[in-house]
Amino acid sequence: MCIHTLNFNPLIQLLMQAYQHILMALNYSSSDQFVITKAMEMSNLYQAKLSIIHVLDDIPMPDTAYGTRIALDKASDNHLLEIEKQRLVTLTDSLGIDHSRCWLVWGSPHQEIALLAEQEKIDLIILGSHPKHGLAVLLSSTADSVLHHASCDLLAIRVPT
Ligand code: AMP
Repeated sequence: MCIHTLNFNPLIQLLMQAYQHILMALNYSSSDQFVITKAMEMSNLYQAKLSIIHVLDDIPMPDTAYGTRIALDKASDNHLLEIEKQRLVTLTDSLGIDHSRCWLVWGSPHQEIALLAEQEKIDLIILGSHPKHGLAVLLSSTADSVLHHASCDLLAIRVPT
């Protein structure tokens, strides 16, 4: 019987606990290819929605509060911001992801990733993680910080140095 099969097939049981909405955090570094590959695999495996976040923390944004979501389809007179938007749109289009699932947020990466995950009911965040050596061990990585702030699962992809 069908029900009997469901109870005893571990693969089906695993898929029943499936992730439904996965968020990949991209920072335009060489780590992104590893994060994207794993996020695509996971979204195919679980038939989950896939979203992207990039947090802007490296261009001047006067008079903009941390946590501000930047609309991708509204032009601004901030030249650097327009470049960032175009970069994200190009990447999103190349992955075949709808713009409505693509988030550009001004703020602190770990805070905004965790906050968006909560607001958008994400159940798995995927990001990159590098091995640390020497004094760098004392500094908290984005993956460490997101882990402390997020309330959903987190998959840190080990990125080769
Ligand atoms: P890091 O701790 O800077 O080495 O970054 C580790 C990972 O955190 C990256 O591979 C990304 O997945 C994510 N990340 C870091 N900075 C950002 C950012 N500004 N926006 C989105 N994701 C980020």
